Amino acid sequence: MLEARYYEKLADEKVRCRLCPHGCLIYPGRAGICCIRFNDGGVLRALTYGRISGMQLDPIEKKPLHFFHPGSKILSIGSIGCNLACFFCQNWQTAQVKDVTSARPAVAVEMMTEPLSVADLVVEASKLARAGNIGVAFTYNEPFIWFEYLLDAARALHETGQKVVLVTNGYVDEKPLREILPYIDAMNIDIKSFSDPTYRRLGGRLDVVKRTAEIANDSVHIELTNLLVPDMNTSSEEITSLVNWVADRLGPQTPLHFSRYFPARRGTMQATARGTLSTAHGIASKRLHNVVLGNI
Ligand code: SF4
Repeated sequence: MLEARYYEKLADEKVRCRLCPHGCLIYPGRAGICCIRFNDGGVLRALTYGRISGMQLDPIEKKPLHFFHPGSKILSIGSIGCNLACFFCQNWQTAQVKDVTSARPAVAVEMMTEPLSVADLVVEASKLARAGNIGVAFTYNEPFIWFEYLLDAARALHETGQKVVLVTNGYVDEKPLREILPYIDAMNIDIKSFSDPTYRRLGGRLDVVKRTAEIANDSVHIELTNLLVPDMNTSSEEITSLVNWVADRLGPQTPLHFSRYFPARRGTMQATARGTLSTAHGIASKRLHNVVLGNI
């Protein structure tokens, strides 16, 4: 198992992970909040390095990226684990490991994933060029917690002229973000809400995600997704605040996708009403040029 990056060794074999703003203090034999960074006798291990939970060739619009090589395909892969805990998680079967199994972290990884080396990933993606593939999208679970594999794979993919896409919650520390950005071509960043109390309920912080989007926007193509969840983030005031930040800090050409929630995980409310998405589209279109509705 590969030793993880971005952590500190502490007394009594404890470690502190510095990959994301949780800064988990991890005791020997335990994993961090994301379930896949594990303290092995005082050494932090990246349990999911070279382990995937799924792989398929998708239209790039499905990521969703509508303004980055439209009409192309992208080989999409994911692993397991997440550093947020959204009660409505639409990908909980791979992201929320503890929902799936109570097995020890290394056993859970073994059960839920299969091996895929960086070299094999590059070959697989290259072979699919004939089918319209432009590279690899890291998606399905949070890619930043897969940092070591992501970095090695992104570098190798760039060496062969392929594109690298992240579909991310943006909850990462600034240093690892800046280290990996030169090897990333496009990102879809999920803005869960424009209310910090709501973000904290999901296990994150709004300021961190805004910072990630603003930094990424300086060097890569970004699109944003806001999953509209009933009774959580659908007020006109909240949508207006989100849209004003996008227009003022990222630019009015930044694509914003409003996506329709469906019941999943502990989210038992009915699917978002189509009228709610239309209202959000109307608000956003007053200031943004590229507003897209998804999952409708
Ligand atoms: S990446 Fe995982 S272990 Fe590290 S601080 Fe974030 S949640 Fe904790």
